[in-house]
Amino acid sequence: MELSKEVDILIIGSGPTGLGAATRLHQLNHENWLMIDALDKPGGLAATDVTPEGFLFDIGGHVIFSHYKYFDDLLDHALGTGTENWAFHERISYVYTKGRYIPYPFQNNISQLPVEDQIECITGLIEAQLESATACGKPKTFDEWILRVMGKGIANIFMRPYNFKVWATPTTLMQCKWLGERVATVDVNRAIKNVLLKKADAGWGPNATFRFPQQGGTGAIWKAVASLLPKEKIKFSSKVIALNLHKKEVRLESGESFRYNKLLSTMPLDYTLKLVGKPELADQLKHNKTHIIGIGLRGHQPRVHANWIYYPEDNCPSYRATIFSKYGEGNAPPADRLLPTIQMGITPVNDNIVAPGPYWSIMVEVSESEHKPVNKDTIVYDTILGAINVGLMESEDEIVSIHYRKENHGYPIPHIDRDGVLEVALPWLKDHSVWSRGRFGSYKYEVANQDHSLMIGVEAINNMLYEEEEVSLCRPDYVNKGSVKNKIIYEPKMKQE
Ligand SMILES: Cc1cc2nc3c(=O)[nH]c(=O)nc-3n(C[C@H](O)[C@H](O)[C@H](O)COP(=O)(O)OP(=O)(O)OC[C@H]3O[C@@H](n4cnc5c(N)ncnc54)[C@H](O)[C@@H]3O)c2cc1C
Repeated sequence: MELSKEVDILIIGSGPTGLGAATRLHQLNHENWLMIDALDKPGGLAATDVTPEGFLFDIGGHVIFSHYKYFDDLLDHALGTGTENWAFHERISYVYTKGRYIPYPFQNNISQLPVEDQIECITGLIEAQLESATACGKPKTFDEWILRVMGKGIANIFMRPYNFKVWATPTTLMQCKWLGERVATVDVNRAIKNVLLKKADAGWGPNATFRFPQQGGTGAIWKAVASLLPKEKIKFSSKVIALNLHKKEVRLESGESFRYNKLLSTMPLDYTLKLVGKPELADQLKHNKTHIIGIGLRGHQPRVHANWIYYPEDNCPSYRATIFSKYGEGNAPPADRLLPTIQMGITPVNDNIVAPGPYWSIMVEVSESEHKPVNKDTIVYDTILGAINVGLMESEDEIVSIHYRKENHGYPIPHIDRDGVLEVALPWLKDHSVWSRGRFGSYKYEVANQDHSLMIGVEAINNMLYEEEEVSLCRPDYVNKGSVKNKIIYEPKMKQE
């Protein structure tokens, strides 16, 4: 049997968290590390697929909203700056409900609803204000939080149905400590004023503007970040199937094994806990699955002037559609590419006659869980039918490309049992020299975006080497305030050949 190779710091996963850790080690001139990944390219869930026809699709709508200068500086260094590298967008998003486009955030725009719904929402808001003045203690579940902050009207028209579609989990089974800036609260005075003035009000949140790579999709960011690292320290197509905490050793599917002093694992924590014989903890962590359906179309940009749209009703399977061709120049093939029509709406076309563009694309996300099953065999058909139903496309629109991908781990659910498991599992693993970190490594949705993940990787290395506090992991509310200047500075290094 082959002998184990030895490495000081082993990183499992080359998604944003693993790349953050590797970037930090490289910056600190640490020589003895290795990053391995089951896949054959970097990026993890932030990678981008390309269809045979030349359409790009991310794994769900990825919008960058950075809380860290380190993240911004690294991206500038990896991809460059300026409009030749980045498309800059204003957030234009709507909730499609009651046959209308309501600007996001919904709770600031109830003035745009039919009058009877405005009455229900305003009445609910006022009742909620009165009740919360006398309520005891903090709300325990997301559902209680919604009712207390927004009232029954907004809960029933938007928050409950929309959140069920996203999380595939009833809001009564979710906790509310994770919320922070992730869900806009309600300014009751502003909501009432907007109703009386019949005013739309879209300005909210950290992602009011965002940038997106002109070429290569979100995945281009992480390929560029990986390209700044020494090639020989990254090993792809290497799936970890066993972890021995006592021997400090991982075994790969290939039979190869590695011994480490310290391990940074970005594998899903539920998987890691099963590998180390703690299935009872693993089973209490909940996640949903995500189906991504990309539709490439011939024609001009759609009728809807939006970057993405939320769908709370059951008139389509998805909770969000992104007009992905708008995000970057390279997201759709050039207009002179000749492509045959595969379908007109839902009707198959078999004539193989090719024609030029222009082209545009839609990308939708559908969630799945034990509470919300999805039929894998019909989901693409159902999605296209749904897109026609909600007016995202027409039944005569020419579809030239269809993309489908399923991710077993889509969103880490802030379930009511989550924090109890994390409080036990993460320190216990760390006591065994394993830093389990990242979107699914540490399971905290409130710090599970690309910027958070990268910094969670960076901060884990500073913790391993210097015992510094892992601010992003331990104090999500603090980093999500947005005004925080992280103390760790990114300094580019010359690329090593
Ligand atoms: C639907 C969706 C929408 C999103 N929207 C946004 C958004 O709008 N903005 C934003 O900033 N972020 C968004 N994200 C989050 C973003 O994708 C994550 O922040 C990021 O990918 C997490 O990085 P990570 O490295 O922690 O995990 P991952 O990206 O999951 O990377 C983990 C890596 O570990 C590898 N791995 C796992 N198991 C093993 C094993 N056994 N052996 C070896 N390797 C293994 C995987 O192959 C993978 O490459 C979204 C994610 C999803 C799914």
